[in-house]
Amino acid sequence: MIVVLKEGAKDEDVEKVRKKIEELGYEPHVLRGMFRTVINCIGDERGKSDNKILEAMEPVDKVLMVLEPYRLASKTTNPEGTKVPIGKGVVVGGEKVVVIAGPCSVENESQIIDVAQKVKEAGAHALRGGAFKPRTAPYSFQGLGKKGLEMLAEAGRKTGLPIVTEVMSPEDVKTVAEYADVLQVGARNVQNFPLLKKLGKTNKPILLKRGMMTTIEEFLLAAEYILAEGNPNVILCERGIRTFETATRNTLDISAIPVLKKKSHLPVIVDPSHATGYWEYVPPMCYAAIAAGADGLIVEVHTNPEEALSDGTQSLKPEKFKNMMENLSKFVKAVGRKL
Ligand code: PEP
Ligand code: MN
Repeated sequence: MIVVLKEGAKDEDVEKVRKKIEELGYEPHVLRGMFRTVINCIGDERGKSDNKILEAMEPVDKVLMVLEPYRLASKTTNPEGTKVPIGKGVVVGGEKVVVIAGPCSVENESQIIDVAQKVKEAGAHALRGGAFKPRTAPYSFQGLGKKGLEMLAEAGRKTGLPIVTEVMSPEDVKTVAEYADVLQVGARNVQNFPLLKKLGKTNKPILLKRGMMTTIEEFLLAAEYILAEGNPNVILCERGIRTFETATRNTLDISAIPVLKKKSHLPVIVDPSHATGYWEYVPPMCYAAIAAGADGLIVEVHTNPEEALSDGTQSLKPEKFKNMMENLSKFVKAVGRKL
């Protein structure tokens, strides 16, 4: 941390701030410049709000942080990168690119089994499907709840695919964890801290989606909540952020992939379905995500998108998904990975 004092700070001001820095447990080094005095603070500033305490002092102009505020999510914790096993031999963050596919919502047993078989045939490695749905309007389909979990688990058993599904509240964690291989935290819940803490106490892989309004730093701090409770199995998911653009549902922040990869050791996957909102744009964004270094994708697929109870406009039909997977293999190869 570097504390910059206001112009004209007197000797007694410098001394007051220096003492406070020492009190906070840092070793202060006062540097007097031509116009300003700065105090270099030696010590670990992460996970504390000492900068705020110092910034509140009258003679202080600003405090510059040197270290990132997260520790466990930081690249320095595991420079090689973390691999997250999600069940049935599937690992996210390894050489193999992992594709999770399936409908937005579980609608009935034959729908989920049918789509599970089709995505499996096309080469998907895991099955997605929502049973607890975070819908913007309270009148929209809210998901089948526990019944939906049972159907999803049955589809998982039939196909041998690990299953990924969302959990929305801390009270549901136990039930969802009984059925799912991976627990998804939706964009709207990325800063639901009681939920994150509860998930941190499980040993299940967590697919953490970036919120539509969260910065990369806030996103990594959300991951830190889970890691800090003892669960190391976190997968980050970029799913588009809200911008002024209305031609797409959200704006896929492709640059978040290399940024997250530089700042964190956690695997990064991309959701081009919620990012774009339209199925036509999904395949090109899948290719772009892999080219940018993503470890995997989560894609919405529906056998009959026109009849889907949620997100039909952004769902690929199984044949389109299959076609996308075939093209994807070229991109995967080009970045030296496997599918
Ligand atoms: C979903 O995966 O169906 C979903 C609701 O995604 P998000 O939380 O990214 O909007
Ligand atoms: Mn959806």
